[in-house]
Amino acid sequence: MPTGYYVRTKEYREKMSKIAKDRGYGLWSRGRIPAFILRGKHHHPSGEKCSKWKGGVTSENKKVRMGREFIEWRRRIFEKDEYTCQGCGERGYIEPHHLCSFSEYPQYRFEDWNGQTLCRDCHVALHWG
Ligand SMILES: [Zn+2]
Ligand SMILES: [Zn+2]
Repeated sequence: MPTGYYVRTKEYREKMSKIAKDRGYGLWSRGRIPAFILRGKHHHPSGEKCSKWKGGVTSENKKVRMGREFIEWRRRIFEKDEYTCQGCGERGYIEPHHLCSFSEYPQYRFEDWNGQTLCRDCHVALHWG
């Protein structure tokens, strides 16, 4: 079982909201991307930053297919988790998280078991908390 798996408990939720408060996460408005993510620390695919796994020679076709696969994978994860954050139970703005990181385990990128739905706050706390 990969590490970093969130279990939705009351204790966890309270802990998270305290951490979020301590670190000022609550100040972010929904949908606003924190500066350090914009600076490129985030590991999720974002187009041109993924030159490594594209290998620089990826055809236009393959790029389109990868994009579609990711979108479908994400939809399956969201549906599996009922569009609910697995960290705090919140519904609203959600993101897919890879339990085995996208960059280190390319073979698991589109595996259903490797995806988990998290809200922005929990996702950020998991990676950088
Ligand atoms: Zn959450
Ligand atoms: Zn993630």
